[in-house]
Amino acid sequence: MRILITGGAGFLGSHLCDRLLKDGHEVICLDNLFTGRKSNVLHLKDNPNFEFVRHDVIDPFKYEVDQIYNLACPASPPHYQFNPIKTTKTSVMGAINCLGLAKRVRARVFQASTSEVYGDPEVHPQPESYWGLVNPIGPRSCYDEGKRCAETLFFDYHRENKVDIRVVRIFNTYGPRMHPNDGRVVSNFIVQALKGEDITIYGDGMQTRSFCYVDDLIEGFVRLMAQTETVGPMNIGNPGEFTMMQLAELTLKLVGGSSKIVHQDLPADDPKQRRPDITLAKSVLNWEPTVELEEGLGHTIEYFKTQV
Ligand code: NAD
Ligand code: UDP
Repeated sequence: MRILITGGAGFLGSHLCDRLLKDGHEVICLDNLFTGRKSNVLHLKDNPNFEFVRHDVIDPFKYEVDQIYNLACPASPPHYQFNPIKTTKTSVMGAINCLGLAKRVRARVFQASTSEVYGDPEVHPQPESYWGLVNPIGPRSCYDEGKRCAETLFFDYHRENKVDIRVVRIFNTYGPRMHPNDGRVVSNFIVQALKGEDITIYGDGMQTRSFCYVDDLIEGFVRLMAQTETVGPMNIGNPGEFTMMQLAELTLKLVGGSSKIVHQDLPADDPKQRRPDITLAKSVLNWEPTVELEEGLGHTIEYFKTQV
């Protein structure tokens, strides 16, 4: 198949490029390089099945493709809050442009949605049926509400125009090719530990997240896209739940060194807890994560040793 990946030069997008090329497909990687890097896909430049296009998803694009994966959107809070209006535009206009193209060329289209649609959840763990608790006017809203609106557009194009959609809700994912200055917790802690700097825990460190290793996530993407039983939304993530204090201690244990743990202010609307209910993915995709946090952190630390 010929497959378009928006945001293909980012952390997740570049792993998806690798996987789809390995599976024998042609890949068009479209990215404006806001948070993505050419270096993430540089190893693919001589592959005749790979093409990079520098383009912004808020402007329309046309390619004759069989499938579209829409991943374009900054994902880390400092990056998506850098230009919040642009973040909402990217999610909403990007979704409209992908869906319009999918409708014209009859492509199956995949939306990288997020556990952020659940906001600061009162239901724990979060099943897909939970509607979430999201602040519509806070500093995280540009991302959360942009992604929620994108889901709305996907389901309306599906109902109104029979567009063949798949929607995945991704829970915190980590691994090689995260940007060292990305600002997300796993990359921050590893880079800080490798440089011997203080490990910055926001708040008391008792908030929880569930961390999925990138290879497990990409396997879930491909399985969701290949099946016809459900269009989603489907949670993909690792149900192992850790406090940020536990993550800091584990990172220090694995990296070694002399970093101290320090506490900084908790950002506004920071969710207190997050863990996916993956019953649907298990039953429909026969998918569950295989990489434990300690093992995945080990691979990620090896990568960051080459970057800092
Ligand atoms: P990333 O920042 O590394 O990748 C995003 C990519 O989109 C980058 O290459 C960036 O340059 C590109 N991009 C941003 N705005 C664009 C625009 N207007 N036009 C074209 N390209 C644009 O982040 P990631 O972790 O790889 O996330 C990929 C997708 O998965 C995002 O949509 C994100 O919201 C979603 N997601 C990721 C996680 C996670 O934990 N990694 C969790 C939930 C959802
Ligand atoms: N966090 C932290 N120190 C950091 C970066 C993040 O304690 O240097 C916390 C953050 O406040 C949040 C959790 O780690 O509670 C996950 O943050 P991240 O930005 O990785 O993802 P998200 O909040 O979007 O799930």
